[in-house]
Amino acid sequence: MGFDFSPSTEQQLLVETVRRFMSQEIFPHEREVERAGEVPLDLGKQIQRRALEQGLYAANMPSEVGGGGLDFVSATLMDRELGKSTWGLIGWIGRPSEILNACRDDQREVYLFPVVRGERKEGFALTEPNAGSDAMGIQTRAVRDGDDYVINGSKHFISCVTKPDFVILFAVTGTDETPRGQRKRMTAFLVDVGSKGFEVRRGPRSVSHRTYHNYQLSFTDCRIPGRNILGEEGKGFEHAGQWLANTRILVAANCCGKAERALEVATNWAATRRQFGQTIGRFQGVSFKLADMATELKAADLLTLYVADKYARGAMTDGDAAMAKLFASEMAARVTDQAIQILGGMGLMDEMPLEMLWRDARIERIWDGTSEIQRHIIGRELLRPHEG
Ligand SMILES: Cc1cc2nc3c(=O)[nH]c(=O)nc-3n(C[C@H](O)[C@H](O)[C@H](O)COP(=O)(O)OP(=O)(O)OC[C@H]3O[C@@H](n4cnc5c(N)ncnc54)[C@H](O)[C@@H]3O)c2cc1C
Repeated sequence: MGFDFSPSTEQQLLVETVRRFMSQEIFPHEREVERAGEVPLDLGKQIQRRALEQGLYAANMPSEVGGGGLDFVSATLMDRELGKSTWGLIGWIGRPSEILNACRDDQREVYLFPVVRGERKEGFALTEPNAGSDAMGIQTRAVRDGDDYVINGSKHFISCVTKPDFVILFAVTGTDETPRGQRKRMTAFLVDVGSKGFEVRRGPRSVSHRTYHNYQLSFTDCRIPGRNILGEEGKGFEHAGQWLANTRILVAANCCGKAERALEVATNWAATRRQFGQTIGRFQGVSFKLADMATELKAADLLTLYVADKYARGAMTDGDAAMAKLFASEMAARVTDQAIQILGGMGLMDEMPLEMLWRDARIERIWDGTSEIQRHIIGRELLRPHEG
């Protein structure tokens, strides 16, 4: 008996398919879109079409709703490959928010199924200008009025490859009494872009994932029917929390992919670039860097797979997901930085993918919960049993 981290035959085939897809449909476009700062809509749709043809689109969603039905460990292996490029491109391969599986009745026809078919795109709208890490601090309100809710407030940093067709909106719908005092009651809603009183604007450009858009949303007396509640009224925080926990593992997997690509570029360079009459990999100052990078990557990979497996078995804690995200995102930052160091000046040039990987790795320590918040989660889980 022991842990077996080797992929099954199906998982190996999946990884090979995604690798081929990345080489044929994604990598060739990186330089042009990074330089232009934009993914042309036609190119995005072409990637989406090919992903649909090859069964990679919405591979994370259950087969009963038309998705690829991947088990969670396989989805993690797929995300590791996707992490080798930038979200402006890979976002078109389509990994819908799993929170949409909470859709019921006609919500499935209007939101879930079209998203899985690639006909509609969603945004996950939690963060606000005054509430980032402190998600319970959100101020957007949805007030019940007859059968409807009337929404007022604003969101920012809501990302999507293109303007979303609807958002999964988190809003305050009241207050709950808890043993630890009052807590905001938060509810998730499905809100169509184009609804009266709902405005969507492009946000500022980010240095990471430069071609991936983020949007600012504002709601002014925006009226939506009560049937647009996603999941249970008052359970928005729980829905968001579950989604964030599994997303953190996928972020960790993305980071491992990014680091692997950077390590490959750096290793090839060190083996061929000559200075002082020999290849630079012969200098211990370079080979030790490679050794540390490879060791950190291996540790992050094993932790990520271990946590993904725990998630699949229903045994994962919030602290597990936080550890994987924390370690892998900090590892990716170090590995992409050291890879640039090994290439010297060429590492910074946009002829090579390293500067993109390095810039993209930066956000992984921020979105889906900053490194400080991950440490909070881990620390809280460690201390809780001792505090009575
Ligand atoms: C490009 C981009 C895309 C995004 N996409 C989405 C999206 O689609 N949907 C969505 O809802 N959100 C999205 N986000 C938001 C993202 O999740 C937040 O940026 C992140 O949670 C951090 O919040 P903040 O930026 O407001 O930073 P803040 O919360 O203001 O934090 C600022 C600093 O203070 C630190 N800090 C805060 N509280 C503590 C504490 N208790 N202890 C120690 N340190 C603390 C943080 O770690 C950080 O270093 C996106 C962000 C970006 C940049």
